[in-house]
Amino acid sequence: MGSTNISIIGAGSAVFSMRLVSDLCKTPGLSGSRVTLMDKDENRLKAVHVLARKLASELGHPIEFVTTKDIEKAVEGADFVINAALVGGHTFLSEIREIGERFGYYRGIDSQEFNMVSDYYTLTNWNQLEFMMKLAKLLETRSPNAWLLLAANPVLEGTTLLKRHTNANVVGFCHGFLALEEICRKLDLEFSKVDWQVAGVNHGIWLNHFSLGGTDAYKILKEKFSENADWRPSNPFDDSFSPAARYMLDFYGLMPIGDTIRNSSWAFHYDIETKKRWYGEPWGGVDSEEGWRWYTDLLGFVVKMFRELAMILEKEPEKSLRGLLKNVASELPEDLAREASTFFNPNIMSGEQHIPFINAIANDEKTRLVVNVLNNGTIRGLPDDIAIEAPAIVSSAGIKMEEIYPDLPERIIKWYLLPRILRMEWALEAFLKKDTSLITEVLFRDPRTKSREQAERAVAEVFRAARKYY
Ligand code: NAD
Repeated sequence: MGSTNISIIGAGSAVFSMRLVSDLCKTPGLSGSRVTLMDKDENRLKAVHVLARKLASELGHPIEFVTTKDIEKAVEGADFVINAALVGGHTFLSEIREIGERFGYYRGIDSQEFNMVSDYYTLTNWNQLEFMMKLAKLLETRSPNAWLLLAANPVLEGTTLLKRHTNANVVGFCHGFLALEEICRKLDLEFSKVDWQVAGVNHGIWLNHFSLGGTDAYKILKEKFSENADWRPSNPFDDSFSPAARYMLDFYGLMPIGDTIRNSSWAFHYDIETKKRWYGEPWGGVDSEEGWRWYTDLLGFVVKMFRELAMILEKEPEKSLRGLLKNVASELPEDLAREASTFFNPNIMSGEQHIPFINAIANDEKTRLVVNVLNNGTIRGLPDDIAIEAPAIVSSAGIKMEEIYPDLPERIIKWYLLPRILRMEWALEAFLKKDTSLITEVLFRDPRTKSREQAERAVAEVFRAARKYY
């Protein structure tokens, strides 16, 4: 493939924008690419454009960046489209969560068994699913050979929906599996030498293989749990060695990885005290009131920092981004300072898989990636037409899923994955029929519902507010 055309939709994303640009600048095979940055927020778009151009020039990569607020222009002629847009933003998520809480639904009506993640709205964010459909339909006509890479949530519902109802080449990605890298660090195991496999659905993945040089690394993992009586999290996301993870490992028979630990049953989530007991003090995990505030403050900080750095560079273009980042490093939260220091290190990629995927397809670089695609027999015991998450070898020939071996335990299939998939089916049916009474039906099956009236009033109120964002 010659010069590659990549479009980033929702390019102002706090989570993704600079990670994707810096990965791109470190991928020699994609040098000379043309990147279209698309966002509906003028200020975010402008800031990312300034920083992207500066980063590429300081890293010595000839990448052309253009911006647009027009989605049709953004997808025209694209080879790869990355969707990171969050329609309605975090403001929508908070408003809907607060309405749910007023009606007795702690952490909102979208917090459901096996789906507790606070920006993974499946019941109410029809906007987000509608936007994904619009994008995929546009690709069908404007760039039918392009790949659509879903970064935005909900990845399980979104990937399944688009694969079932459009002809776009869709693949979903989540960085949650990288928690395994952190687990290996804590176990003093070199991640690159470990033989591992994860499998399941997005935010519900399980460590199916785990060995090093023929030795079962599960033994080391279990020993670490038993030494860990005084465990405390270092940040709200740090839950791999929490009592919740330990319980899940014992009950389901495999280690839950990344967001899977957050996505457990109500037994860990009834209220803040319960959350603290299972996910550690002081936050009670990232999906509690305090934990989520910690995360959204961090995202707000990132957006503000990018805007300020872009403003400085607009006024004083001779300044270097590397120098500016160094100057502010001491004011940054620790994780962010560490991440910012990697932007300019050509040997450290962000861990996001979008750019490695594009490189694998465009340049036939065989790469092992964890992808979300339709099951089609990969995980036995699950339906074929739902998006699963598992490793694959990606190359210009496409995506070849790894054999899942051994099969996932029945306990995981029947007690975790199938119930989660059923909730997805309910949510998708309600979305496709635009039938809010089906959302009420979901709430009738929710242990927080004490009366029909409570569920009906909550749903009416939530969708009245949601309509503002259409
Ligand atoms: P964010 O609000 O910071 O960024 C989203 C961007 O989308 C904003 O710049 C916004 O202006 C833009 N946007 C909103 N509506 C748009 C529209 N109609 N057209 C174009 N752009 C639009 O959000 P974030 O925290 O960066 O999260 C983005 C998404 O990524 C969310 O869905 C989040 O849940 C998801 N996420 C996924 C992963 C993963 O590994 N897959 C990890 C973290 C977050």
